[in-house]
Amino acid sequence: MTERIASLDWGATPGADDDRRAAPDAPSAARTRIERPLRFRPHHFLCSLGFAGAGYDDNFTVNMEEIVMGLLRAHDGDGVEIEVVAGADAICAPCPNNLGPDCTKSAKVNALDARHAAALALVPGERLSWGAAKARIREQVQPGDLTQLCAGCEWLELGLCEAALAQLHRKT
Ligand code: SF4
Repeated sequence: MTERIASLDWGATPGADDDRRAAPDAPSAARTRIERPLRFRPHHFLCSLGFAGAGYDDNFTVNMEEIVMGLLRAHDGDGVEIEVVAGADAICAPCPNNLGPDCTKSAKVNALDARHAAALALVPGERLSWGAAKARIREQVQPGDLTQLCAGCEWLELGLCEAALAQLHRKT
């Protein structure tokens, strides 16, 4: 199962054009364009868990704050429904690397998706709540695993995602 998931084409983006077209022109525009269910590519489950306010630029950061702080970490955030997608998602929408037919960092992010999808047993089209996603992270990703799962990510060395993962495990 894990090998089959990892071998899926996580760069294939059926329907992902919607997210590219949704890129806002200004930070405030991001607030009105988050579709439900949330569309997440696999590695953005753990990115959302570890998000601490840093991003690639203002548009990206405001959009991710709206998703993570405004939805997932709201009092009813565990009930937010998320659909797993291949390719650009709700977090990618305003990213400065999300240009043209494909992300300028597609090789790196598709590799991240393949590893995270295998670790969390996520498949395209699957829907799960944020609460269920956190439970799956707790069950299947152990503190220290991000060194391998997130290899190549520029945010890894900050340690914020590992700290959030450790905190999630401490809550059990
Ligand atoms: S280290 Fe990078 S890929 Fe891994 S969870 Fe954090 S932001 Fe996401």
